[in-house]
Amino acid sequence: MADYRYLIVGGGMTGDAACKGIRSVDPDGSIGLVGSEPDPPYARPPLSKGLWLGKEESSIWRGTEEQGVDLHLGRTVVSLDLGARTATDDRGDTYGYDRVLLATGGRPREMPGAPEGLIHYRALADYRALRERATEGARVLVVGGGFIGSELAAATAQSGCAVTIVFPEDGICARLLPPDLSGFLNDHFRGKGVDVVAGELVAAVERSDEGFRVTTRGGGAYDADVVVAGLGIVPNDGLAASAGLSADGGIPVDDRGRVDGRDDVFAAGDVAVFPARDLGRDLRVEHEDHAKSHGRQVGRNMAGADEPYDHLPFFYSDLFELGYEAVGELDSRLDTAAEWVEPYRKGVVCYLDAEGRPRGFLLWDVWGKVDAATELIRAGAVLEDGQLRGLVG
Ligand SMILES: Cc1cc2nc3c(=O)[nH]c(=O)nc-3n(C[C@H](O)[C@H](O)[C@H](O)COP(=O)(O)OP(=O)(O)OC[C@H]3O[C@@H](n4cnc5c(N)ncnc54)[C@H](O)[C@@H]3O)c2cc1C
Repeated sequence: MADYRYLIVGGGMTGDAACKGIRSVDPDGSIGLVGSEPDPPYARPPLSKGLWLGKEESSIWRGTEEQGVDLHLGRTVVSLDLGARTATDDRGDTYGYDRVLLATGGRPREMPGAPEGLIHYRALADYRALRERATEGARVLVVGGGFIGSELAAATAQSGCAVTIVFPEDGICARLLPPDLSGFLNDHFRGKGVDVVAGELVAAVERSDEGFRVTTRGGGAYDADVVVAGLGIVPNDGLAASAGLSADGGIPVDDRGRVDGRDDVFAAGDVAVFPARDLGRDLRVEHEDHAKSHGRQVGRNMAGADEPYDHLPFFYSDLFELGYEAVGELDSRLDTAAEWVEPYRKGVVCYLDAEGRPRGFLLWDVWGKVDAATELIRAGAVLEDGQLRGLVG
């Protein structure tokens, strides 16, 4: 049995960041990482952006092994014995630990009845499968108009594919963006040659001689060479639940990353529900900055740092030549106030609570203002005239 001071379950960006966090406090303690994917930890964001625009695949590796970490890849931890402090993988191998981190992230939400060959997009293997089929001129049908769907539609269109995107909301990223901006994105994508099918639910995806036939509830029918779905993720909290730990749509942790107040079990990243001090509520965040910063902080705490995680994560996206950074709560159901330098090209949108206090900021082609926006959320004061102008200026 391999025995480790620190055992990391999950080889994503959070698992990698935790190894680096541990090493910043404890240069020598043994670390083992067990990951389901065959690849060592890598950056996921380029899978729907840079790799389609000429970035080399070799640029995505996180270099986890340079931290002196034993990587056990292509293995899934199937049980945890909290009393014995052991974890067992799907090949029957057991790992002992003093402290364990659950960095199990999420798996793509699957489309019911999806035929073989439909790609639920999340991992490097999915990128490679899509890349192979999304050659110039290929008909790509994207299901889902959120982050992943919109980025994939833009990336494959930029690679010369004939792209259709189908989603039930009125506009692209409509759950996140105010309706006018989301509607603008529909037009923008159409202007780039993408067939945007908004307000439509996919009824069935079937294999056809030439590839796939996708039908919608509204009676639409689309032929495609490849179908790729971005329907959000389901947190991988089953391992925690089966070990008797708290888990319900994620694993709740305290500000140190401890699960159920234990000193030997931690969770971080996409799977963790953590107290977001600045927003005064618990949050589960599915973004790179959080994976890196939470993973690192919780790794430090596993090694004894005993420091709170009080970072409000930011995120970003690229859609054709448009791009943004954002911080806090972006929910299109909230009231918003906007300041545009050029409508829908450059500006700031602030998401407000019922009292008019900022909960989140969308910085649309506005760069280097995440810290200033975070301060406005942190201050908890009613948004004043001129503050948005200050951010875009
Ligand atoms: C295509 C794509 C583009 C993205 N773009 C952006 C972006 O532009 N901006 C942004 O902020 N964020 C982006 N994200 C989100 C960001 O990449 C994620 O938030 C981050 O990678 C989550 O890291 P994680 O390690 O917590 O979880 P995951 O990445 O889900 O990693 C968890 C790993 O653990 C493994 N695992 C699960 N259970 C077990 C087990 N029992 N035993 C062993 N291994 C297990 C999984 O297979 C997986 O490899 C993007 C995500 C994707 C998929």
